[in-house]
Amino acid sequence: MKTIDDLDVSGKRVFVRADLNVPLNGTTITDDGRIRAVAPTIAALLERGAKVVVASHLGRPKGAPDPQFSLAPVAVRLGELLGRPVAFATDTVGDSAKATVAALGDGEVTLLENLRFNAGETSKDDAERGAFADRLAELADLYVGDGFGAVHRKHASVYDLPARLPHAAGLLIEKELGVLKRLTEDVRRPYAVVLGGSKVSDKVGVIDNLLGKADRILIGGGMMFTFLKALGHEVGGSLLQEDQIPVVLEYLERAKANGVEFIIPVDTAVAGSFPDVKTGTPVEDFEVVDVDAIPAGKLGLDIGPKTAALFAEKLADAKTVFWNGPMGVFEHPQFADGTRAVAQALLTASTPPGDAFTVVGGGDSAAAVRTLGFDENKFGHISTGGGASLEYLEGKTLPGIAALEA
Ligand code: ADP
Ligand code: MG
Repeated sequence: MKTIDDLDVSGKRVFVRADLNVPLNGTTITDDGRIRAVAPTIAALLERGAKVVVASHLGRPKGAPDPQFSLAPVAVRLGELLGRPVAFATDTVGDSAKATVAALGDGEVTLLENLRFNAGETSKDDAERGAFADRLAELADLYVGDGFGAVHRKHASVYDLPARLPHAAGLLIEKELGVLKRLTEDVRRPYAVVLGGSKVSDKVGVIDNLLGKADRILIGGGMMFTFLKALGHEVGGSLLQEDQIPVVLEYLERAKANGVEFIIPVDTAVAGSFPDVKTGTPVEDFEVVDVDAIPAGKLGLDIGPKTAALFAEKLADAKTVFWNGPMGVFEHPQFADGTRAVAQALLTASTPPGDAFTVVGGGDSAAAVRTLGFDENKFGHISTGGGASLEYLEGKTLPGIAALEA
């Protein structure tokens, strides 16, 4: 795979596919980690005299312009981080984009509007995606892939565009792949994996591959309830994927045979309804219950304190830890304790405390670590891609990486 050092970018228009899909509250960016992560690549290209055209998706608009998913606030923040103005094009391949790119001088940068405002970006139809990629290709001479969080997507700007232009990987993708390699080759043991979050079916798949690699798998977040149900517990109104129960049971069997330890929660923080994360208004019927006593009318929204202590113990001597998915609804203060406890356990893992190689992957997991006030530099690596990291660890081919290698 080529890197930006292999491209002669001076005076050329360089298309940088970034992942600037940051969490927004209105037009306020609540975590700018993904913008900071790609800034060094853009800065390096500008330094070398390139005309840089940055593009990204944001959220899930339905293939047409939708102001709530505009990248305009991101252009402002990117400009602050780069210390120079970022021209913003109000479309992707239309008049605004063409004019903004044409006006770029050497060492100047523009950000295009949300790629997903065009249906061709995510289309399952090769021809429709290809047609959009053709129009994007007209805007640039070279392509740099650096949107790690999107490399598992077969999208026009990720997969089809690099086939149309001389291409290379950006600094972020190089770094992310280097870290993931360390999680698959010559892993220091014990190797513990902590899984949580809300996308249960997405994440159950990775376990299959981890059963041959990890020594311990700790299950929290929404996924824990499918495990608990499989083990015969009632889970009330908690997140549950009934159809995954046979899969989970098979994993538990295989883990036993392979000597892999599953650590399943023993208690959980519950409430009668999903908490209001926007206001953080306290939930009155909050309680912590053992997993064999989840009331029928309640839903589990975090691991409980006994589980947090158990997880901390299981992480204390780990030499490698991969963590994806918050342990609970950390966006609400009453359900953030489990996530906080796991973050803390990662920081002190191994001997001397903190010696473990720790990787946090996933947009929400990374945001959780930062918004809960942890110093991100104390972790081995905070990945910008959850789905992408998981699919890599599952051993799948990532379309955006394959396209850069071609
Ligand atoms: P990541 O982005 O790190 O890969 P996900 O997107 O899978 O993680 O999940 C993050 C979300 O999971 C958070 O918004 C959090 O509120 C939610 N979550 C965690 N535990 C639960 C739970 N028990 N029930 C419902 N949602 C949960
Ligand atoms: Mg997420």
